[in-house]
Amino acid sequence: MCLPPNSAVSAAVQARPLHDDQGTPDAVATKLHKGTVDSIVVDADDPEPDDSFFRTLLDKMPDGVFVAQNYRFVFANAALPRMLGYTHEEFVGLPFAAVIPPEFLDLWTERFRARIGEGEEPPNTYEVRFLCKGGGRTLPIELNANRLLFGGQRSVLGIVRDISSRKRTQEALRESEERFRGSFEQAAVGMAMVDLDGHFLSVNPKLCDILDYPASALHALTFQQITHPDDLEADVELMNGVLRGDHATYTMEKRYLRSDGSARWALLTVSLMRDADGTPSHFISVVEDIHERRMAQTALADSELRHRLLMHNLHAGLLICTPDARITYGNPEVSRMLRTDPKAVIGKSIPELGCTFRDEHGSPLSLDNDLIQRVRHSGRELTDMVASIQCADNLPPVWALVHAYPEFDTSRRFSRIVLMFIDITDRKRLEAELLADRQMKAAALDAMTSHVAVLDRKGVIVETNASWGRFAERGGYGDGRSFNGVNYLDVLANVTGPDETFAKAAHEGIKAVMAGRSPLFQMDYPCHCPSERQWFAMKVTPMDAQRERVLVSHENITSIKLAEEAIRILANTDALTGLANRRHFLETAEDEFARAQRYNTPLAVLMADLDFFKAINDRYGHAGGDTVLRHFAITLSSLLRDSDSAGRVGGEEFAVLLPHTALDGAQAFAERLMDCIASTPPDIDGTLAPYTVSIGISEFGPGSKDFSALLRCADDALYRAKHNGRNRYEVLTAQDCERPAGG
Ligand code: GH3
Ligand code: MG
Ligand code: MG
Repeated sequence: MCLPPNSAVSAAVQARPLHDDQGTPDAVATKLHKGTVDSIVVDADDPEPDDSFFRTLLDKMPDGVFVAQNYRFVFANAALPRMLGYTHEEFVGLPFAAVIPPEFLDLWTERFRARIGEGEEPPNTYEVRFLCKGGGRTLPIELNANRLLFGGQRSVLGIVRDISSRKRTQEALRESEERFRGSFEQAAVGMAMVDLDGHFLSVNPKLCDILDYPASALHALTFQQITHPDDLEADVELMNGVLRGDHATYTMEKRYLRSDGSARWALLTVSLMRDADGTPSHFISVVEDIHERRMAQTALADSELRHRLLMHNLHAGLLICTPDARITYGNPEVSRMLRTDPKAVIGKSIPELGCTFRDEHGSPLSLDNDLIQRVRHSGRELTDMVASIQCADNLPPVWALVHAYPEFDTSRRFSRIVLMFIDITDRKRLEAELLADRQMKAAALDAMTSHVAVLDRKGVIVETNASWGRFAERGGYGDGRSFNGVNYLDVLANVTGPDETFAKAAHEGIKAVMAGRSPLFQMDYPCHCPSERQWFAMKVTPMDAQRERVLVSHENITSIKLAEEAIRILANTDALTGLANRRHFLETAEDEFARAQRYNTPLAVLMADLDFFKAINDRYGHAGGDTVLRHFAITLSSLLRDSDSAGRVGGEEFAVLLPHTALDGAQAFAERLMDCIASTPPDIDGTLAPYTVSIGISEFGPGSKDFSALLRCADDALYRAKHNGRNRYEVLTAQDCERPAGG
């Protein structure tokens, strides 16, 4: 190996004191590696180091050392050829161009020239790449080049340091920096670098977005300025804790104040960054926008609070059960109904509550099996189950309407069941009272003989009594129930035929009562069929002050009507003869007279008196006399037309009224009557008892003032017939009667 003279190395190694332990070649090499050539110091007082010292020193150096002259390496230590893959022998003598990548050759030739020339000194440290042996690989190096007079020639002294590992580190650092920058800029969370006083050094777009400030505005602010006053103290305290070293990072939920002054909730994570020597340099803050979540949480908390309040104050009992029917919650109302403490129900199953549940008919109910299991299996709610709850005490049972709802979690799994108990004890009691009241009223209605129907405001039959039902069945209209729902007013409105008048009157009467125009409507009406004559009395009354219901009753008054008829007949009829009595005859006659007067139609009147009746009585006895009277009445009646009428107006005196009959007709009638009597005498106890009658005839005429005048006129004619020998008739006209008597 060719060793440069001591002076050559000495030139690069300035004379400075060197400590004892650093005087060895190893120590000097290490020193040399750490710094530049300039830091190598040789103590002037030390014995002159010999060549072998420097050789060893140079060979121990990890840095390569070379001397180049005329673009050729004339000296190299052991390290340099090793770095580039050459043996020492191969390397020394190589042209400089052998280690310079071709593209930099011109540049290096220029530099080399400058290095050995006299011109201005270029910078003497470069980062370049040297070609390794074979030229396929390059090695990054730091080259420190200096001028050197070597062997009397201008030369270049080069110190070559392999910086491939430093380059790799730098590259990794750059990549890491880029990655950090990239993730910083594009992060989905807000990020900032903040100095130790709180100034924003760097912010990413997301943070600008969250805080609603442009980056430039944030750079002029501190985090303290945009922190909600209520959260500032905690934030600063945590930050100081990190600075004190209490903890490496901190996380807190805090509110930032946005540019418009509104508060924005964020999750802040702060890490302290330190320099290489451990001095705190800045903070990295990661800001996650949790505003919506916080708002949702707040809303949820509010809603839960409201639900809790609602459940607590609900007028319905609530039990919440797990899918295996264990109670997890019971509200105060359910505790009252189950007569237990709210906390005592928790964890229990329904049977463990010690209560007996029964249905409306008194049969035991198992809420577990009849409700919870059914809801579990169907996944549907079950509502309106009526249950009585009897707990272990002597108090009357509580009646409840029970609803059961399944609840599902977000994955549609059955998560719990809610049982709701609505206390209907009062309603049940009222229902029972109402039922008893109804039954009592129905019994009362049924006890009534009249047919009763209750109508609503529209006239629809809502109830009928037993009597109505029996009447309907007899009439072939079905039973009473078949009338429920029928509109009675519509039925009445559609009646035609003989009953139409009554139906219309009934319709109007019911409407009048419903409208409050009349407090009562009553009407008697016939209801005849070929086999039976019947009469009913209809009565309509409101059942309540608001007239929501009206009661329509139909009472069968046939017997009364028949009795009335009988009385009326009795009152109008002569008991012995069956003819109209005097009063009734006169009533009828007045009507006929008025009609004849109104229409100016003929009307004849006959007065008949049996001759010598006293003698008949005397001969046949009073009963025999009665037989003769009846014989005359029958004979007379047999000759009457429907429009004619006759009456017994005295003991053995009779009057006959022949409407639309003039005197000639009346005379013919009198003759027929006398002939009949004569031809068919009555038989009294086997003996024929012939008798005769005298008849006076008159007729209605312009001179007839009234019927009594007409009757008097006929009586006058009768008197004349008696006077003229009996068994005959005499006629007097109205004009005759007007003349003074005896005229
Ligand atoms: P004359 O031919 O003038 O009419 O004579 P007379 O006897 O028929 O008339 P008179 O007035 O003198 O007698 C009427 C008698 O009729 C008197 C009375 O006892 C009788 N008499 C009245 N009513 C009844 C009765 O209901 N039954 C019976 N048997 N006799 C009666
Ligand atoms: Mg007489
Ligand atoms: Mg007589």
